[in-house]
Amino acid sequence: MTTKSAAAAARSTVYGYPRQGQGRELKKAVEGYWKGRVDADGLRAAAAALRTANWRALAGAGIDEVPTGDFSYYDHVLDTTVMVGAIPERHRAAVAADALDGYFAMARGNREVAPLEMTKWFDTNYHYLVPELGPGTVFTADSGKQVDELKEALALGLTARPVLVGPVTYLLLAKPAPGVPADFQPLTLLDRLLPVYAEVLADLRAAGAEWVQLDEPALVQDRTPAELNAAARAYRDLGALTARPKLLAASYFDRLGGALPVLAKAPVEGLALDFTGSAAANLGDLAAAGGLPGKRLVAGVVNGRNIWVNDLEKSLATLGTLLGLADRVDVAASCSLLHVPLDAAAETDVDPEILGWLSFARQKTDEIVTLARGLGRGTPAISGELAANRAVLASRAASPVTRDPAVRARTGAVTAADARRSAPYGERTVAQRTRLGLPLLPTTTIGSFPQTDELRAARADLRSGHIDTAGYEERVRSEIQEVIAFQEKTGVDVLVHGEPERNDMVQYFAEQLTGYLATRHGWVQSYGTRYVRPPVLVGDVSRPAPMTVRWTSYAQSLTGKPVKGMLTGPVTMLAWSFVRDDQPLGETARQVALALRDEVDDLEAAGTRVIQVDEPALRETLPLRTADRAGYLAWATEAFRLTTSGVAADTQIHTHMCYAEFGDVVEAIDDLDADVISLEAARSHMQIAGELAVHGYPREAGPGVWDIHSPRVPSADEAAGLLRTGLKAIPAERLWVNPDCGLKTRGWAETRASLENLVAAARTVRGEL
Ligand code: GLN
Ligand code: ZN
Repeated sequence: MTTKSAAAAARSTVYGYPRQGQGRELKKAVEGYWKGRVDADGLRAAAAALRTANWRALAGAGIDEVPTGDFSYYDHVLDTTVMVGAIPERHRAAVAADALDGYFAMARGNREVAPLEMTKWFDTNYHYLVPELGPGTVFTADSGKQVDELKEALALGLTARPVLVGPVTYLLLAKPAPGVPADFQPLTLLDRLLPVYAEVLADLRAAGAEWVQLDEPALVQDRTPAELNAAARAYRDLGALTARPKLLAASYFDRLGGALPVLAKAPVEGLALDFTGSAAANLGDLAAAGGLPGKRLVAGVVNGRNIWVNDLEKSLATLGTLLGLADRVDVAASCSLLHVPLDAAAETDVDPEILGWLSFARQKTDEIVTLARGLGRGTPAISGELAANRAVLASRAASPVTRDPAVRARTGAVTAADARRSAPYGERTVAQRTRLGLPLLPTTTIGSFPQTDELRAARADLRSGHIDTAGYEERVRSEIQEVIAFQEKTGVDVLVHGEPERNDMVQYFAEQLTGYLATRHGWVQSYGTRYVRPPVLVGDVSRPAPMTVRWTSYAQSLTGKPVKGMLTGPVTMLAWSFVRDDQPLGETARQVALALRDEVDDLEAAGTRVIQVDEPALRETLPLRTADRAGYLAWATEAFRLTTSGVAADTQIHTHMCYAEFGDVVEAIDDLDADVISLEAARSHMQIAGELAVHGYPREAGPGVWDIHSPRVPSADEAAGLLRTGLKAIPAERLWVNPDCGLKTRGWAETRASLENLVAAARTVRGEL
């Protein structure tokens, strides 16, 4: 191996590309199909046109090897379930009747059957459909989609590499099917699954694939020795196949750690590794493992998860080091470009200087091509690009947008005391009880009330200029009146204003904070046909003016009962945005926390006695590797406390989280030092109440007694039953009565009936105390 030949061969590639199209054509086609406006052929044609456009864009930019099979009507893990024939029993009839309709039945359910469960794809905001497997699962190969898409790309004259979810990751992402014991381990099915992968690989080889990529991101998480052995066995067996393409085992989202030597020793022809962020540790680990002699290394040096322009010189330095460690080094993004928007150039409203700092999928593609050229031909071949890149990076580093001296002075002056309430919880709870005068088992809601058609129409009217701001605000006020009047009539104890002014719990605040940038077309797939436009944390954050005070105060002016102020917490404000890469996340969190603290303090000054700071994302941003978690939780909990610690002891701080599995963060939840927490619990029959008790959670808690993800109205008896279960674990002095989450997705009819039942249940159970 010579360094020179490795460099000369440097090629550019990506693992996946945004699926939706610039005008979200895929969403329109798929939803059109669901509504019967587009037929199956129309949907297929729209999808094929998008794939072709993407491949042409990649090849046109100079990408040497394009991915295939990464496209999906809904989700690539669901596509893998189809590929290996692991169709759940309950969906088989639908799939047999019509493959496409059956596919969507698995994704979304239909009148007869429930869909597959959906969950987050590692620590991204993409959601996949969870495979359901059991001891009886029989796998059968269906390589049709993969083969067809490969042929499409080859027909365009392109060099194409099919991308598959790898067998180990597929099994590690699966869960026991309904009716299968919960301790069943899908990984025990590996020997049954490998022959199916062998068949698919042979089909792809026969269709013309030189290389096939097998994605194994599950190997960047902590893995047991048994799991690593399974990975070793899987790649030994696949490597030993005769009729197969060359194999590229790909990992991303973090460092491989203990799995690196396993894959490095496996009889595969190539490895793809992430070298960005915390995955940069792969570099040292690779050197320590003796490199990849005789293998191809695909180096993910362009971050596929953020939207920032690459530091080309830094990436070239990494690539240069890697040249000594593998037979051949190619250049890629760290992961599929699925997680970033399509094209920054579409953001015509953004200040041109700031626009230069942004890099979406198209721009990242250009960066990859430039880096491969620089690696192959030497830096003089890309001197123009390097100079331009240096200028952009310098502009970002020096800009007053990214460095606001006032913000920096303030974060720099934060002391540990700033992130501590003035009195311990035990004293606060007494002061709050006196001030609020609430009954035992107080009732409340999580914040939002139904987002009605009228509200959406009002926002559309405001955007289109049909009404002015005054007219819009008039409609918001009348909605608040209705929400307050309803809660008073129903007998709710702690009221909310209903959040009618908010389009989204992050965007609403991002629009009012300095340092956040909104995009117009920056859509990213969240799941299926749902796309979100995460705001960008572009600079130092501050709050020029109060954001929610007048709405909360208006609501409070209508009632004598306490109205709860409602804010999105700093961790969630980061988790559902694109974050800065030029300072530690904890620093950004601290800036956001101080801005929100101003809002909390202003709410209190305006007379708000109860303030809720939502942190539904606290657990989902937990780092993939347990070793990294303590560091994350330290800054995350500090940011929450910084947000909420400016208030007096008798101001009650609530927080809310939308999940029931929290065993691994319970200490962190306690560390938030909130006075009251509300959590999802109705589906798990208050299991969480018991878990809180087991963990000795000493504060007030409202495990939800109404599953708001379902249109079902809980009866008063049912809610009372759940409360009695809750009381076995949480004493009456500390138990609240509330739904699982906000009501924005519910209709008014269900909301009315359900809240009346909740209040009735609380009264019944109070009478039993
Ligand atoms: N306060 C928010 C609401 O009620 C909370 C939403 C959430 O937890 N996701 O809508
Ligand atoms: Zn929630």
